[in-house]
Amino acid sequence: MRTKIKIVGCGLSGITAANILKNKGYDVKIYDTRSHIGGNCYDGYLCGTLTHQYGPHIFHTNDENVFSFLSEFTDWFPFEYKPKGKTKLGLISLPYSKKTIKEIGKELSLDEIKEIIFKDYSEKQWGIAFEKLPKSICNRIPDTSELDDPTWYKNEKYQCMPKYGYTKMFEEMLRGINIELACDKYEWKKDKADLTIYTGSIDSYFNYCYGFLPYRSLEFEHKVTNKKMNYVVENQNTKDVAYTRKYDHSFFNFKHNQNTTVITKEFPLEYDTNNIPYYPKCFGKNKDLYLKYRKLANQENNVLFLGRLANYKYLDMWCAIKLILNKLK
Ligand SMILES: Cc1cc2nc3c(=O)[nH]c(=O)nc-3n(C[C@H](O)[C@H](O)[C@H](O)COP(=O)(O)OP(=O)(O)OC[C@H]3O[C@@H](n4cnc5c(N)ncnc54)[C@H](O)[C@@H]3O)c2cc1C
Repeated sequence: MRTKIKIVGCGLSGITAANILKNKGYDVKIYDTRSHIGGNCYDGYLCGTLTHQYGPHIFHTNDENVFSFLSEFTDWFPFEYKPKGKTKLGLISLPYSKKTIKEIGKELSLDEIKEIIFKDYSEKQWGIAFEKLPKSICNRIPDTSELDDPTWYKNEKYQCMPKYGYTKMFEEMLRGINIELACDKYEWKKDKADLTIYTGSIDSYFNYCYGFLPYRSLEFEHKVTNKKMNYVVENQNTKDVAYTRKYDHSFFNFKHNQNTTVITKEFPLEYDTNNIPYYPKCFGKNKDLYLKYRKLANQENNVLFLGRLANYKYLDMWCAIKLILNKLK
């Protein structure tokens, strides 16, 4: 009998694990509570426009292994993430650079950069006063002032999008793998397996025995329109507008040649266990709570806790893949 492995979660982490393990000859089955594959990287067509349903995903990495692993399943098109920001000083180019300085007509001090570009945006994003945010978030001011017109991921060799979308790439990775979608969140427990790879929330795995881990959630307002934007993303860097950013999906499509596009506005809100947990608030006492769950996880036999939810950690896509490659390849 072949070794049986069940994988909880059909997001990027679960799919990467499934692909590697299937190619090693294991009998793999994946479970997901959602009705589609891809987790938060899922993209689907809305009136002909490929739309990132859970927020814009720009692939970026310097890691050759991660890039060549994914390149087996997709071609790419180059993508430069250069948002605009609506600020007290008007519409400016981000990240802050020589181009921004020209637009404003003067250089900003570090305190002004924090105040004008980061403060209100971060407070909306996290629902916490800027001064109370951990230094790892509020001091993350990129050092780009000497550059002419940098991209957001200026130091990364690969900045691109899968040519026909993430979901299409995932379909290739999942060829020949048994998947159960739209299942109950404890459905996976019913099947027997030699190993479980768990990419769901760590607190849910332990039935929230120590309480819920806090997250920030998001609401997406997708609108089909024939009024395209002139640039890909507009951040709202002041508090008088509730959403943090809006973006035009025609830019995320390789060769978008139709009259309408999809423009999405992103509204942050608290996670209440009924909406989706997006950004782990892994600081202060929340981190201690996570470590208590982690202790329990370390005592489980034949279960690997992988992915962003099981590790209660924001992971860029390349990091999520790297973790799986390191563990399983
Ligand atoms: C708004 C936003 C924008 C982002 N943009 C970028 C970007 O531009 N570039 C980048 O590199 N990264 C980006 N990321 C990060 C990227 O989304 C993650 O790297 C990726 O989603 C990690 O995949 P995952 O499989 O670990 O988690 P997820 O995508 O969350 O997948 C987990 C899956 O597990 C399922 N699940 C959970 N519990 C259970 C259960 N009990 N039973 C069955 N199924 C379950 C969920 O339904 C979900 O499908 C962004 C993240 C967010 C929130």
